[in-house]
Amino acid sequence: MIKYIITGGAGFIGSHLVQALVKKNKKVVVLDNLSTGRLDNIKKYRNNKKFLKCDISKKGKWINEFNSKCYVFHLAALADIVPSIQNPEAYFSSNVNGTFNVLQTAKSAGVKRFIYIASSSCYGIPDQYPTPETTEISPQYPYALTKRLGEELVMHWAKVYKLPALSLRFFNVYGPRQPLKGQYAPVIGLFEEQAKRGEPLTIVGDGEQRRDFTHVNDVVEANMNAMMTNYSGMVVNVGTGVNHSVNEVASYISDNTVNIPERPGEARETLANIKRANNLLDWEPKITLEDYFDPN
Ligand code: NAD
Repeated sequence: MIKYIITGGAGFIGSHLVQALVKKNKKVVVLDNLSTGRLDNIKKYRNNKKFLKCDISKKGKWINEFNSKCYVFHLAALADIVPSIQNPEAYFSSNVNGTFNVLQTAKSAGVKRFIYIASSSCYGIPDQYPTPETTEISPQYPYALTKRLGEELVMHWAKVYKLPALSLRFFNVYGPRQPLKGQYAPVIGLFEEQAKRGEPLTIVGDGEQRRDFTHVNDVVEANMNAMMTNYSGMVVNVGTGVNHSVNEVASYISDNTVNIPERPGEARETLANIKRANNLLDWEPKITLEDYFDPN
């Protein structure tokens, strides 16, 4: 029977993929060490779902799940910026060694298709907006570098071993189950949580930095389309092609704000060129930030 392996499936984005596939009655296996993911994220989706707590940076029983009837979505990673500067070893272990292990296992099993979730942070501070996939790669911190190294591994395995694989470079993803707490939580979840607690929204720097915010439902659809195409050995941006400043985001939520110091290496702007996603994945985003904050 066909099955879908989702590494990092207990995390924010992975849990939405689990939800979408379970809804379609697909057989799903989640591999996750719960370092940042939560079982709560997927406990509702019981049908046809198996959960294995495992660390992909080490070989273990999880490799037995792979066979020639599998589709693999590889999302498991440590995914914060500042913590990656403080602890690069953990990031290298999960994001690079982990990707190597998942890839080797997928290749040995002869899986049907492999989708790697990469990050737009590989562009660093690009000189072209909207930023196409051909832009120079220039990671500014270990998280970005380790995600890029993972992507290089995947592209190499596609070329050398003919593994049918695509890499999707996500921009800033938001939506239900996004991280809400912690100093480095992504801005939309963090602001919503701060407003709920009656605290001021902590705007980094002057708040005029702009981000291409992409709704998680759109991201899930891009993943599904990527799984169904026959393209391989390519990277594809998954963003909206529109961006908003952090001040604009704050204005949807509260006018109780405070400015805090800027962080190292963060781009002033992110903005995806999504022509390739339009063409290869037959995909375009449907949910705008305005829809999210003001659905009526
Ligand atoms: P998340 O932290 O919610 O999900 C990551 C999941 O991976 C977690 O469930 C975590 O427990 C698991 N994990 C981490 N290390 C592991 C290991 N060694 N073994 C097994 N499981 C492990 O983060 P997310 O935002 O859902 O991100 C999912 C993927 O999307 C990541 O690869 C991230 O780099 C990528 N991405 C996210 C965004 C975004 O805006 N959220 C943007 C670009 C790329």
